[in-house]
Amino acid sequence: MVKRIAVVEKEKCNPLSCGDYLCMRMCPLNREGQEAITKGPDGKAQINEELCTGVCSICVNICPFGAIHMVKLPDNLTQKPIHRYGKDSFILYNIPLPTSGKVLGILGRNGIGKSTALKILSNSLTPNLGDPENKDPKIDELIKMYRGSEIQIFLKKLKEKKVKIAYKPQSVHLIPTQIEGTVKELLDKSNENNKLDEVSEQLNLKELYDREVSALSGGELQRLAIAATLLRDANFYFFDEPASFLDITYRIKVAKIIRSLAKEGVAVMVVEHDLATLDYISDQLQILYGNAAVYGIVSQIKSVRRGINEYLDGYLPDDNVRFRDYKIKFNKGIERYVNRPVLYSWGDLEKEFETFKLKISAGELRKGEILTITGGNGLGKTTFLKMLAGLIKPTKGKIDSSIKIAYKPQDIKPEAGTVNEWLHKFAKNKESGWFEKNILDKLNLRKIINSNIADLSGGELQKVFVAITLSLDADVYAFDEPSAFIDVEDRINVAEVIRDFMNKQDTCAIVVDHDIQFVDYIGDSMLVFEGEPGKEGHVKGPLTKEEGMNEVLKMLDITFRIDAEFGRPRINQLGSQLDKKQKKEGKYYYT
Ligand code: SF4
Ligand code: SF4
Repeated sequence: MVKRIAVVEKEKCNPLSCGDYLCMRMCPLNREGQEAITKGPDGKAQINEELCTGVCSICVNICPFGAIHMVKLPDNLTQKPIHRYGKDSFILYNIPLPTSGKVLGILGRNGIGKSTALKILSNSLTPNLGDPENKDPKIDELIKMYRGSEIQIFLKKLKEKKVKIAYKPQSVHLIPTQIEGTVKELLDKSNENNKLDEVSEQLNLKELYDREVSALSGGELQRLAIAATLLRDANFYFFDEPASFLDITYRIKVAKIIRSLAKEGVAVMVVEHDLATLDYISDQLQILYGNAAVYGIVSQIKSVRRGINEYLDGYLPDDNVRFRDYKIKFNKGIERYVNRPVLYSWGDLEKEFETFKLKISAGELRKGEILTITGGNGLGKTTFLKMLAGLIKPTKGKIDSSIKIAYKPQDIKPEAGTVNEWLHKFAKNKESGWFEKNILDKLNLRKIINSNIADLSGGELQKVFVAITLSLDADVYAFDEPSAFIDVEDRINVAEVIRDFMNKQDTCAIVVDHDIQFVDYIGDSMLVFEGEPGKEGHVKGPLTKEEGMNEVLKMLDITFRIDAEFGRPRINQLGSQLDKKQKKEGKYYYT
Protein backbone atom coordinates (compact mmCIF):
# COMPACT_ATOMS: atom_id res chain seq x y z
CA MET A 1 0.00 0.00 0.00
CA VAL A 2 1.19 3.55 -0.81
CA LYS A 3 2.13 5.25 2.45
CA ARG A 4 3.03 8.59 0.94
CA ILE A 5 0.91 10.28 -1.63
CA ALA A 6 1.50 13.12 -4.05
CA VAL A 7 -1.37 15.35 -5.13
CA VAL A 8 -1.47 18.26 -7.56
CA GLU A 9 -4.53 20.48 -7.09
CA LYS A 10 -5.31 21.01 -10.75
CA GLU A 11 -7.46 24.13 -10.16
CA LYS A 12 -4.52 25.82 -8.47
CA CYS A 13 -1.83 24.71 -10.94
CA ASN A 14 -1.16 27.53 -13.40
CA PRO A 15 1.96 26.68 -15.46
CA LEU A 16 1.82 29.92 -17.44
CA SER A 17 1.96 32.10 -14.32
CA CYS A 18 4.57 30.14 -12.33
CA GLY A 19 7.32 30.62 -14.88
CA ASP A 20 6.69 27.72 -17.26
CA TYR A 21 6.41 24.55 -15.17
CA LEU A 22 8.70 25.74 -12.40
CA CYS A 23 8.31 22.49 -10.44
CA MET A 24 9.38 20.38 -13.44
CA ARG A 25 12.42 22.53 -14.01
CA MET A 26 13.51 22.47 -10.36
CA CYS A 27 12.81 18.82 -9.50
CA PRO A 28 16.19 17.07 -8.92
CA LEU A 29 14.93 13.83 -10.51
CA ASN A 30 13.77 15.68 -13.63
CA ARG A 31 17.12 17.43 -13.77
CA GLU A 32 18.78 14.00 -13.83
CA GLY A 33 16.67 13.13 -16.84
CA GLN A 34 13.90 11.19 -15.10
CA GLU A 35 10.23 12.12 -15.37
CA ALA A 36 9.06 12.54 -11.79
CA ILE A 37 6.98 15.54 -12.87
CA THR A 38 5.49 15.68 -16.34
CA LYS A 39 2.90 17.67 -18.25
CA GLY A 40 -0.41 15.88 -17.81
CA PRO A 41 -2.98 15.50 -20.61
CA ASP A 42 -4.77 18.59 -19.21
CA GLY A 43 -1.59 20.66 -19.50
CA LYS A 44 -1.14 20.75 -15.71
CA ALA A 45 1.78 19.32 -13.73
CA GLN A 46 1.49 15.59 -13.00
CA ILE A 47 3.59 13.74 -10.41
CA ASN A 48 4.73 10.19 -10.85
CA GLU A 49 4.45 8.64 -7.35
CA GLU A 50 6.48 5.60 -8.42
CA LEU A 51 9.55 7.71 -9.19
CA CYS A 52 9.27 10.42 -6.55
CA THR A 53 10.12 9.49 -2.98
CA GLY A 54 8.58 12.75 -1.79
CA VAL A 55 11.47 13.42 0.53
CA CYS A 56 13.01 16.54 -1.01
CA SER A 57 9.70 18.48 -1.23
CA ILE A 58 11.32 21.09 -3.48
CA CYS A 59 8.26 21.16 -5.73
CA VAL A 60 5.93 21.61 -2.73
CA ASN A 61 7.88 24.62 -1.49
CA ILE A 62 8.58 26.17 -4.84
CA CYS A 63 5.09 26.17 -6.37
CA PRO A 64 3.88 29.77 -5.93
CA PHE A 65 0.24 28.66 -5.76
CA GLY A 66 0.58 25.89 -3.17
CA ALA A 67 -0.77 23.40 -5.72
CA ILE A 68 1.49 20.45 -4.79
CA HIS A 69 1.13 18.28 -1.68
CA MET A 70 3.34 15.39 -0.51
CA VAL A 71 1.64 13.75 2.42
CA LYS A 72 2.45 10.72 4.54
CA LEU A 73 -0.64 8.66 5.25
CA PRO A 74 -1.31 7.54 8.85
CA ASP A 75 0.83 4.46 9.67
CA ASN A 76 -2.15 2.51 10.98
CA LEU A 77 -4.29 3.12 7.91
CA THR A 78 -5.20 -0.41 6.89
CA GLN A 79 -8.28 0.34 4.82
CA LYS A 80 -8.23 0.21 1.07
CA PRO A 81 -9.03 3.41 -0.81
CA ILE A 82 -12.60 3.81 -2.04
CA HIS A 83 -11.92 6.26 -4.81
CA ARG A 84 -9.11 8.21 -6.40
CA TYR A 85 -9.94 10.75 -9.11
CA GLY A 86 -6.60 10.60 -10.94
CA LYS A 87 -3.03 9.38 -10.57
CA ASP A 88 -2.05 12.34 -8.41
CA SER A 89 -5.46 13.38 -7.09
CA PHE A 90 -7.56 13.24 -3.94
CA ILE A 91 -8.20 9.81 -2.32
CA LEU A 92 -11.22 8.88 -0.20
CA TYR A 93 -11.10 6.08 2.39
CA ASN A 94 -14.38 4.59 3.66
CA ILE A 95 -17.89 5.98 3.16
CA PRO A 96 -20.54 7.20 5.62
CA LEU A 97 -23.39 4.88 6.57
CA PRO A 98 -26.89 6.38 6.31
CA THR A 99 -29.15 4.57 8.81
CA SER A 100 -32.92 4.14 8.66
CA GLY A 101 -34.75 6.24 11.28
CA LYS A 102 -31.65 8.27 12.19
CA VAL A 103 -30.06 11.61 11.34
CA LEU A 104 -26.37 11.09 10.61
CA GLY A 105 -24.28 14.23 11.07
CA ILE A 106 -21.06 14.61 9.09
CA LEU A 107 -18.34 16.78 10.56
CA GLY A 108 -15.11 17.68 8.83
CA ARG A 109 -13.04 20.36 7.20
CA ASN A 110 -13.76 21.76 3.77
CA GLY A 111 -12.11 19.82 0.91
CA ILE A 112 -11.96 16.54 2.84
CA GLY A 113 -14.22 14.38 0.64
CA LYS A 114 -17.81 15.09 1.69
CA SER A 115 -19.00 15.66 -1.86
CA THR A 116 -17.15 12.56 -3.13
CA ALA A 117 -18.88 10.46 -0.45
CA LEU A 118 -22.24 11.93 -1.42
CA LYS A 119 -21.70 11.20 -5.12
CA ILE A 120 -21.01 7.55 -4.22
CA LEU A 121 -24.03 7.27 -1.90
CA SER A 122 -26.30 8.78 -4.54
CA ASN A 123 -24.98 6.47 -7.26
CA SER A 124 -23.70 9.32 -9.40
CA LEU A 125 -20.08 8.15 -9.01
CA THR A 126 -19.02 4.50 -9.14
CA PRO A 127 -15.90 4.23 -7.03
CA ASN A 128 -12.73 2.82 -8.60
CA LEU A 129 -11.29 1.50 -5.31
CA GLY A 130 -8.29 3.80 -5.68
CA ASP A 131 -7.36 2.74 -9.21
CA PRO A 132 -7.90 5.68 -11.57
CA GLU A 133 -6.79 3.47 -14.50
CA ASN A 134 -9.98 1.45 -14.06
CA LYS A 135 -12.28 3.24 -16.46
CA ASP A 136 -15.27 0.95 -15.96
CA PRO A 137 -15.56 0.33 -12.21
CA LYS A 138 -18.47 -1.76 -10.90
CA ILE A 139 -20.39 -1.20 -7.68
CA ASP A 140 -20.23 -5.00 -7.10
CA GLU A 141 -16.56 -4.60 -6.23
CA LEU A 142 -17.44 -2.13 -3.49
CA ILE A 143 -20.24 -4.40 -2.26
CA LYS A 144 -17.72 -7.24 -2.06
CA MET A 145 -15.26 -5.05 -0.17
CA TYR A 146 -17.88 -4.28 2.50
CA ARG A 147 -19.04 -7.92 2.76
CA GLY A 148 -20.78 -8.64 6.06
CA SER A 149 -21.15 -5.01 7.13
CA GLU A 150 -24.20 -2.75 7.35
CA ILE A 151 -23.00 -0.55 4.53
CA GLN A 152 -23.17 -3.61 2.25
CA ILE A 153 -26.97 -3.69 2.70
CA PHE A 154 -27.20 0.00 1.76
CA LEU A 155 -24.96 -0.53 -1.29
CA LYS A 156 -27.03 -3.49 -2.49
CA LYS A 157 -30.17 -1.36 -2.31
CA LEU A 158 -28.30 1.35 -4.19
CA LYS A 159 -27.44 -1.15 -6.93
CA GLU A 160 -31.04 -2.36 -7.11
CA LYS A 161 -32.17 1.27 -7.39
CA LYS A 162 -34.16 1.02 -4.17
CA VAL A 163 -32.55 4.12 -2.67
CA LYS A 164 -34.33 7.29 -3.68
CA ILE A 165 -32.32 10.34 -2.71
CA ALA A 166 -33.42 13.92 -2.15
CA TYR A 167 -30.47 16.31 -2.04
CA LYS A 168 -30.18 19.88 -0.81
CA PRO A 169 -27.01 21.26 -2.45
CA GLN A 170 -24.45 23.35 -0.59
CA SER A 171 -24.22 26.27 -3.03
CA VAL A 172 -27.78 27.60 -2.93
CA HIS A 173 -26.61 30.96 -4.28
CA LEU A 174 -26.05 29.21 -7.64
CA ILE A 175 -29.73 28.13 -7.93
CA PRO A 176 -30.78 31.26 -9.89
CA THR A 177 -28.11 30.47 -12.49
CA GLN A 178 -29.58 26.98 -12.98
CA ILE A 179 -33.36 27.45 -12.58
CA GLU A 180 -35.82 30.03 -13.89
CA GLY A 181 -39.36 30.74 -12.69
CA THR A 182 -41.19 31.66 -9.51
CA VAL A 183 -40.90 30.08 -6.08
CA LYS A 184 -44.33 28.46 -6.45
CA GLU A 185 -43.44 26.98 -9.86
CA LEU A 186 -40.30 25.42 -8.47
CA LEU A 187 -42.05 24.04 -5.39
CA ASP A 188 -44.90 22.63 -7.52
CA LYS A 189 -42.36 20.67 -9.55
CA SER A 190 -40.85 19.19 -6.37
CA ASN A 191 -44.15 18.39 -4.63
CA GLU A 192 -44.00 14.58 -4.87
CA ASN A 193 -45.42 13.94 -1.39
CA ASN A 194 -48.23 16.56 -1.56
CA LYS A 195 -46.95 18.43 1.50
CA LEU A 196 -46.56 21.77 -0.25
CA ASP A 197 -48.95 23.61 2.05
CA GLU A 198 -47.45 22.25 5.27
CA VAL A 199 -43.80 22.76 4.25
CA SER A 200 -44.45 26.28 2.84
CA GLU A 201 -46.17 27.19 6.11
CA GLN A 202 -43.29 25.84 8.20
CA LEU A 203 -40.67 27.77 6.24
CA ASN A 204 -42.75 30.94 5.65
CA LEU A 205 -42.56 30.57 1.88
CA LYS A 206 -46.16 31.44 0.96
CA GLU A 207 -45.39 35.16 0.97
CA LEU A 208 -42.63 34.47 -1.59
CA TYR A 209 -44.72 32.27 -3.95
CA ASP A 210 -44.90 34.86 -6.77
CA ARG A 211 -41.30 36.01 -6.41
CA GLU A 212 -38.87 35.09 -9.21
CA VAL A 213 -36.13 32.72 -7.93
CA SER A 214 -33.55 35.18 -9.33
CA ALA A 215 -34.84 37.89 -6.94
CA LEU A 216 -34.38 35.89 -3.71
CA SER A 217 -31.82 36.64 -0.99
CA GLY A 218 -29.37 33.97 0.25
CA GLY A 219 -31.58 33.08 3.22
CA GLU A 220 -34.69 32.85 1.04
CA LEU A 221 -32.87 30.62 -1.47
CA GLN A 222 -31.77 28.36 1.39
CA ARG A 223 -35.36 28.00 2.67
CA LEU A 224 -36.56 27.31 -0.87
CA ALA A 225 -33.90 24.63 -1.42
CA ILE A 226 -34.70 22.97 1.92
CA ALA A 227 -38.44 23.02 1.12
CA ALA A 228 -37.89 21.54 -2.36
CA THR A 229 -35.89 18.71 -0.74
CA LEU A 230 -38.52 18.06 1.96
CA LEU A 231 -41.19 17.78 -0.77
CA ARG A 232 -39.44 14.87 -2.49
CA ASP A 233 -40.77 11.38 -1.88
CA ALA A 234 -37.43 9.87 -0.90
CA ASN A 235 -36.00 7.39 1.58
CA PHE A 236 -32.59 9.05 1.86
CA TYR A 237 -32.45 12.81 2.45
CA PHE A 238 -29.14 14.63 2.33
CA PHE A 239 -28.74 18.24 3.44
CA ASP A 240 -25.42 19.87 2.62
CA GLU A 241 -24.93 22.87 4.96
CA PRO A 242 -28.58 23.76 5.61
CA ALA A 243 -27.73 26.55 8.11
CA SER A 244 -25.75 28.81 5.73
CA PHE A 245 -27.43 32.17 5.05
CA LEU A 246 -30.13 31.45 7.63
CA ASP A 247 -30.59 33.61 10.66
CA ILE A 248 -30.49 32.14 14.12
CA THR A 249 -34.28 31.66 14.30
CA TYR A 250 -34.45 29.71 11.07
CA ARG A 251 -31.42 27.57 11.98
CA ILE A 252 -33.29 26.16 14.95
CA LYS A 253 -36.57 25.86 13.03
CA VAL A 254 -34.88 23.98 10.16
CA ALA A 255 -33.03 21.72 12.62
CA LYS A 256 -36.35 20.71 14.19
CA ILE A 257 -37.96 20.03 10.77
CA ILE A 258 -35.02 17.93 9.53
CA ARG A 259 -34.95 15.93 12.77
CA SER A 260 -38.62 15.05 12.37
CA LEU A 261 -37.93 13.61 8.90
CA ALA A 262 -36.04 10.54 10.12
CA LYS A 263 -38.34 7.58 10.66
CA GLU A 264 -38.47 3.85 9.92
CA GLY A 265 -37.34 3.37 6.32
CA VAL A 266 -36.05 6.94 5.96
CA ALA A 267 -32.39 7.89 6.52
CA VAL A 268 -31.16 11.48 6.81
CA MET A 269 -27.62 12.79 6.44
CA VAL A 270 -26.50 16.35 7.24
CA VAL A 271 -23.18 18.09 6.68
CA GLU A 272 -22.90 21.22 8.82
CA HIS A 273 -20.20 23.50 10.24
CA ASP A 274 -22.46 25.23 12.75
CA LEU A 275 -21.69 22.99 15.73
CA ALA A 276 -24.77 23.89 17.79
CA THR A 277 -27.06 23.13 14.83
CA LEU A 278 -25.23 19.90 13.96
CA ASP A 279 -25.33 18.77 17.58
CA TYR A 280 -29.05 19.49 17.83
CA ILE A 281 -30.00 17.94 14.49
CA SER A 282 -28.04 14.65 14.64
CA ASP A 283 -28.58 11.28 16.34
CA GLN A 284 -25.15 10.00 15.42
CA LEU A 285 -22.01 11.30 13.81
CA GLN A 286 -19.20 10.37 11.46
CA ILE A 287 -16.06 12.47 11.24
CA LEU A 288 -14.18 13.08 8.03
CA TYR A 289 -10.51 13.71 8.73
CA GLY A 290 -7.33 13.75 6.70
CA ASN A 291 -5.64 16.46 4.70
CA ALA A 292 -7.78 18.90 2.70
CA ALA A 293 -7.55 18.34 -1.08
CA VAL A 294 -5.19 15.34 -0.53
CA TYR A 295 -7.04 12.55 1.27
CA GLY A 296 -10.07 12.03 3.50
CA ILE A 297 -10.96 9.18 5.85
CA VAL A 298 -14.48 8.55 7.16
CA SER A 299 -14.42 7.53 10.84
CA GLN A 300 -16.56 4.92 12.53
CA ILE A 301 -20.05 5.91 13.68
CA LYS A 302 -20.21 7.65 17.07
CA SER A 303 -22.85 9.12 19.32
CA VAL A 304 -23.20 12.80 18.53
CA ARG A 305 -21.84 14.06 21.86
CA ARG A 306 -18.85 11.77 21.78
CA GLY A 307 -18.23 12.46 18.09
CA ILE A 308 -18.14 16.24 18.48
CA ASN A 309 -15.96 15.99 21.59
CA GLU A 310 -13.52 13.67 19.83
CA TYR A 311 -13.45 16.04 16.87
CA LEU A 312 -12.61 18.95 19.17
CA ASP A 313 -10.02 16.79 20.92
CA GLY A 314 -8.39 15.93 17.57
CA TYR A 315 -8.10 12.27 18.61
CA LEU A 316 -10.34 9.36 17.60
CA PRO A 317 -9.76 6.48 20.08
CA ASP A 318 -11.74 3.88 18.07
CA ASP A 319 -9.69 4.60 14.98
CA ASN A 320 -6.53 5.22 17.06
CA VAL A 321 -5.78 8.37 15.11
CA ARG A 322 -4.64 11.80 16.20
CA PHE A 323 -5.60 14.04 13.29
CA ARG A 324 -4.83 17.39 14.92
CA ASP A 325 -2.01 18.16 17.35
CA TYR A 326 -4.03 20.52 19.53
CA LYS A 327 -7.44 20.50 21.25
CA ILE A 328 -10.16 23.01 20.52
CA LYS A 329 -11.38 24.32 23.89
CA PHE A 330 -14.32 26.59 24.57
CA ASN A 331 -13.08 28.93 27.26
CA LYS A 332 -15.81 30.74 29.06
CA GLY A 333 -15.23 34.43 28.31
CA ILE A 334 -13.93 36.58 31.08
CA GLU A 335 -15.08 40.14 31.27
CA ARG A 336 -11.56 41.30 30.51
CA TYR A 337 -12.63 44.64 29.01
CA VAL A 338 -14.81 45.93 31.89
CA ASN A 339 -12.23 48.13 33.60
CA ARG A 340 -10.76 49.47 30.41
CA PRO A 341 -11.41 52.98 29.04
CA VAL A 342 -14.28 53.65 26.64
CA LEU A 343 -12.99 53.83 23.07
CA TYR A 344 -16.14 54.46 21.09
CA SER A 345 -19.73 55.42 21.80
CA TRP A 346 -22.83 56.21 19.82
CA GLY A 347 -26.00 58.06 20.80
CA ASP A 348 -29.62 57.14 20.07
CA LEU A 349 -29.95 56.56 16.33
CA GLU A 350 -32.86 56.19 13.94
CA LYS A 351 -33.02 55.29 10.28
CA GLU A 352 -36.15 55.39 8.18
CA PHE A 353 -36.50 53.86 4.74
CA GLU A 354 -39.72 53.83 2.74
CA THR A 355 -40.94 50.57 4.28
CA PHE A 356 -38.54 49.94 7.17
CA LYS A 357 -37.75 51.77 10.41
CA LEU A 358 -34.80 51.12 12.70
CA LYS A 359 -34.24 52.45 16.24
CA ILE A 360 -30.95 51.98 18.07
CA SER A 361 -30.34 52.99 21.66
CA ALA A 362 -27.08 54.54 22.76
CA GLY A 363 -24.11 52.32 23.55
CA GLU A 364 -20.37 52.25 24.05
CA LEU A 365 -17.37 50.02 23.46
CA ARG A 366 -14.30 49.69 25.66
CA LYS A 367 -10.76 48.93 24.55
CA GLY A 368 -10.40 45.22 23.86
CA GLU A 369 -14.16 44.58 23.89
CA ILE A 370 -15.95 42.50 21.27
CA LEU A 371 -19.63 43.34 20.92
CA THR A 372 -21.63 40.68 19.14
CA ILE A 373 -24.89 41.36 17.36
CA THR A 374 -27.50 38.75 16.70
CA GLY A 375 -31.20 38.39 15.89
CA GLY A 376 -33.40 37.54 12.90
CA ASN A 377 -32.73 38.71 9.33
CA GLY A 378 -34.46 41.85 8.09
CA LEU A 379 -34.23 43.66 11.44
CA GLY A 380 -31.51 46.16 10.51
CA LYS A 381 -28.25 44.60 11.78
CA THR A 382 -26.37 45.36 8.57
CA THR A 383 -27.95 48.85 8.35
CA PHE A 384 -26.61 49.57 11.85
CA LEU A 385 -23.09 48.48 10.88
CA LYS A 386 -23.27 50.56 7.70
CA MET A 387 -24.35 53.62 9.73
CA LEU A 388 -21.38 53.18 12.06
CA ALA A 389 -19.06 52.72 9.09
CA GLY A 390 -20.37 55.96 7.53
CA LEU A 391 -21.86 54.19 4.50
CA ILE A 392 -25.46 55.17 5.39
CA LYS A 393 -26.49 58.39 7.17
CA PRO A 394 -28.90 58.06 10.12
CA THR A 395 -32.22 59.93 9.86
CA LYS A 396 -31.90 60.97 13.51
CA GLY A 397 -28.76 61.05 15.65
CA LYS A 398 -25.10 61.45 14.74
CA ILE A 399 -22.11 59.16 14.22
CA ASP A 400 -18.71 60.27 15.51
CA SER A 401 -16.82 60.54 12.23
CA SER A 402 -13.46 61.12 13.98
CA ILE A 403 -13.38 57.40 14.84
CA LYS A 404 -12.11 55.26 11.96
CA ILE A 405 -14.11 52.08 11.38
CA ALA A 406 -12.88 49.18 9.26
CA TYR A 407 -15.82 47.24 7.86
CA LYS A 408 -16.05 43.72 6.39
CA PRO A 409 -19.36 43.50 4.55
CA GLN A 410 -21.60 40.42 4.51
CA ASP A 411 -21.42 39.98 0.72
CA ILE A 412 -17.80 39.70 -0.20
CA LYS A 413 -16.98 39.70 -3.86
CA PRO A 414 -13.78 38.43 -5.41
CA GLU A 415 -11.51 41.27 -6.53
CA ALA A 416 -8.83 41.43 -9.22
CA GLY A 417 -5.29 40.79 -7.96
CA THR A 418 -3.53 38.31 -5.71
CA VAL A 419 -3.98 37.88 -1.95
CA ASN A 420 -0.48 39.29 -1.42
CA GLU A 421 -1.18 42.38 -3.52
CA TRP A 422 -4.33 43.14 -1.54
CA LEU A 423 -2.69 42.61 1.84
CA HIS A 424 0.23 44.85 0.89
CA LYS A 425 -2.13 47.52 -0.33
CA PHE A 426 -3.50 47.95 3.20
CA ALA A 427 -1.04 46.44 5.68
CA LYS A 428 1.40 49.35 5.60
CA ASN A 429 0.95 50.34 9.23
CA LYS A 430 1.19 46.90 10.85
CA GLU A 431 4.32 45.30 12.24
CA SER A 432 4.66 42.76 9.47
CA GLY A 433 6.25 39.99 11.60
CA TRP A 434 3.41 40.03 14.12
CA PHE A 435 0.80 40.33 11.41
CA GLU A 436 2.23 37.38 9.49
CA LYS A 437 2.59 35.15 12.55
CA ASN A 438 -0.68 36.00 14.24
CA ILE A 439 -2.98 36.53 11.30
CA LEU A 440 -1.66 35.00 8.10
CA ASP A 441 -0.29 31.84 9.77
CA LYS A 442 -3.26 31.32 12.10
CA LEU A 443 -5.70 31.72 9.21
CA ASN A 444 -3.52 29.43 7.10
CA LEU A 445 -3.27 31.99 4.33
CA ARG A 446 0.39 31.67 3.41
CA LYS A 447 -0.20 28.78 1.03
CA ILE A 448 -2.61 30.87 -1.03
CA ILE A 449 -0.69 34.14 -0.74
CA ASN A 450 0.13 34.20 -4.49
CA SER A 451 -3.30 33.00 -5.63
CA ASN A 452 -5.68 35.27 -7.45
CA ILE A 453 -8.53 36.38 -5.18
CA ALA A 454 -10.97 35.51 -7.97
CA ASP A 455 -9.85 31.83 -7.82
CA LEU A 456 -10.41 31.32 -4.07
CA SER A 457 -13.10 29.13 -2.50
CA GLY A 458 -15.83 30.79 -0.40
CA GLY A 459 -14.04 29.88 2.85
CA GLU A 460 -10.64 31.11 1.64
CA LEU A 461 -12.20 34.36 0.44
CA GLN A 462 -13.85 34.93 3.83
CA LYS A 463 -10.55 34.46 5.68
CA VAL A 464 -8.70 36.76 3.27
CA PHE A 465 -11.30 39.51 3.83
CA VAL A 466 -11.04 39.09 7.61
CA ALA A 467 -7.24 39.52 7.27
CA ILE A 468 -7.63 42.53 4.94
CA THR A 469 -10.06 44.19 7.38
CA LEU A 470 -7.63 43.65 10.26
CA SER A 471 -4.81 45.12 8.17
CA LEU A 472 -6.66 48.45 7.85
CA ASP A 473 -5.62 51.30 10.13
CA ALA A 474 -8.75 51.82 12.26
CA ASP A 475 -10.08 52.31 15.81
CA VAL A 476 -13.04 49.94 15.55
CA TYR A 477 -13.35 46.79 13.43
CA ALA A 478 -16.79 45.70 12.23
CA PHE A 479 -17.42 42.23 10.75
CA ASP A 480 -20.68 41.18 9.11
CA GLU A 481 -20.98 37.35 9.26
CA PRO A 482 -17.28 36.36 9.42
CA SER A 483 -18.18 32.68 9.99
CA ALA A 484 -20.00 32.25 6.66
CA PHE A 485 -18.56 29.52 4.35
CA ILE A 486 -15.81 28.45 6.75
CA ASP A 487 -15.48 25.17 8.62
CA VAL A 488 -15.46 24.57 12.39
CA GLU A 489 -11.70 24.83 12.85
CA ASP A 490 -11.43 28.02 10.85
CA ARG A 491 -14.36 29.52 12.76
CA ILE A 492 -12.38 29.04 15.95
CA ASN A 493 -9.23 30.38 14.24
CA VAL A 494 -11.09 33.47 13.00
CA ALA A 495 -12.55 34.06 16.49
CA GLU A 496 -9.11 33.74 18.11
CA VAL A 497 -7.40 35.96 15.56
CA ILE A 498 -10.00 38.71 16.09
CA ARG A 499 -9.80 38.40 19.91
CA ASP A 500 -5.97 38.47 19.95
CA PHE A 501 -5.93 41.44 17.62
CA MET A 502 -8.30 43.49 19.80
CA ASN A 503 -6.18 42.74 22.87
CA LYS A 504 -2.85 43.43 21.22
CA GLN A 505 -3.93 46.60 19.37
CA ASP A 506 -6.12 47.90 22.24
CA THR A 507 -9.01 48.40 19.84
CA CYS A 508 -12.51 46.94 19.76
CA ALA A 509 -14.76 45.01 17.40
CA ILE A 510 -18.40 44.60 16.49
CA VAL A 511 -19.34 41.20 15.07
CA VAL A 512 -22.66 40.24 13.48
CA ASP A 513 -23.14 36.47 13.21
CA HIS A 514 -25.76 33.71 13.31
CA ASP A 515 -23.61 30.81 14.54
CA ILE A 516 -24.63 30.85 18.18
CA GLN A 517 -21.56 28.94 19.34
CA PHE A 518 -19.26 31.30 17.44
CA VAL A 519 -21.09 34.27 19.01
CA ASP A 520 -20.71 32.69 22.45
CA TYR A 521 -17.03 31.99 21.80
CA ILE A 522 -15.97 35.38 20.49
CA GLY A 523 -18.18 37.90 22.31
CA ASP A 524 -17.90 39.89 25.54
CA SER A 525 -21.16 41.82 25.26
CA MET A 526 -24.24 41.68 23.05
CA LEU A 527 -26.83 43.67 21.13
CA VAL A 528 -29.98 41.70 20.39
CA PHE A 529 -32.11 42.84 17.45
CA GLU A 530 -35.87 42.42 17.70
CA GLY A 531 -38.93 43.60 15.74
CA GLU A 532 -40.83 42.63 12.61
CA PRO A 533 -38.54 41.56 9.74
CA GLY A 534 -38.65 43.99 6.81
CA LYS A 535 -40.85 46.49 8.71
CA GLU A 536 -39.38 47.54 12.03
CA GLY A 537 -36.26 46.80 14.04
CA HIS A 538 -35.07 47.88 17.50
CA VAL A 539 -32.37 46.68 19.88
CA LYS A 540 -31.98 45.35 23.38
CA GLY A 541 -28.64 46.27 24.84
CA PRO A 542 -25.74 46.51 24.90
CA LEU A 543 -26.13 43.65 27.38
CA THR A 544 -23.57 41.47 29.11
CA LYS A 545 -22.96 38.24 27.22
CA GLU A 546 -24.95 36.31 29.78
CA GLU A 547 -27.97 38.63 29.58
CA GLY A 548 -27.77 38.74 25.78
CA MET A 549 -27.48 34.97 25.30
CA ASN A 550 -30.37 34.50 27.70
CA GLU A 551 -32.52 36.86 25.59
CA VAL A 552 -31.60 35.12 22.31
CA LEU A 553 -32.18 31.61 23.64
CA LYS A 554 -35.50 32.64 25.20
CA MET A 555 -36.58 34.04 21.83
CA LEU A 556 -35.65 30.70 20.19
CA ASP A 557 -37.28 28.70 23.02
CA ILE A 558 -34.11 26.65 23.56
CA THR A 559 -31.80 26.23 26.54
CA PHE A 560 -28.05 25.71 26.66
CA ARG A 561 -26.08 23.50 29.01
CA ILE A 562 -22.34 23.23 29.24
CA ASP A 563 -20.47 20.07 28.23
CA ALA A 564 -18.35 19.26 31.27
CA GLU A 565 -15.40 17.91 29.26
CA PHE A 566 -14.89 20.66 26.67
CA GLY A 567 -16.69 23.67 28.10
CA ARG A 568 -18.78 23.49 24.94
CA PRO A 569 -22.28 24.93 25.09
CA ARG A 570 -24.89 22.37 23.94
CA ILE A 571 -28.59 22.77 23.18
CA ASN A 572 -30.77 20.77 25.60
CA GLN A 573 -33.28 18.42 24.01
CA LEU A 574 -36.66 20.17 23.86
CA GLY A 575 -38.80 19.02 26.79
CA SER A 576 -35.94 17.24 28.58
CA GLN A 577 -35.77 17.58 32.38
CA LEU A 578 -32.92 20.07 32.17
CA ASP A 579 -34.70 22.07 29.47
CA LYS A 580 -37.83 22.34 31.61
CA LYS A 581 -35.87 23.18 34.76
CA GLN A 582 -33.80 25.93 33.11
CA LYS A 583 -36.90 27.45 31.47
CA LYS A 584 -38.72 27.47 34.80
CA GLU A 585 -35.80 29.29 36.41
CA GLY A 586 -35.49 31.68 33.45
CA LYS A 587 -31.91 30.49 32.91
CA TYR A 588 -31.86 29.73 29.20
CA TYR A 589 -28.09 30.21 29.06
CA TYR A 590 -25.73 28.14 31.21
CA THR A 591 -24.00 30.10 33.94
FE1 SF4 B 1 3.76 25.64 -11.81
FE2 SF4 B 1 2.88 24.90 -9.41
FE3 SF4 B 1 1.69 23.98 -11.59
FE4 SF4 B 1 4.14 23.17 -10.98
S1 SF4 B 1 2.27 22.80 -9.82
S2 SF4 B 1 3.40 23.78 -12.98
S3 SF4 B 1 5.00 25.03 -10.07
S4 SF4 B 1 1.77 26.09 -10.91
FE1 SF4 C 1 10.73 16.00 -7.57
FE2 SF4 C 1 11.30 16.32 -4.99
FE3 SF4 C 1 8.88 16.99 -5.95
FE4 SF4 C 1 9.57 14.45 -5.79
S1 SF4 C 1 9.33 15.85 -4.07
S2 SF4 C 1 8.59 15.45 -7.52
S3 SF4 C 1 11.71 14.53 -6.23
S4 SF4 C 1 10.84 17.95 -6.45
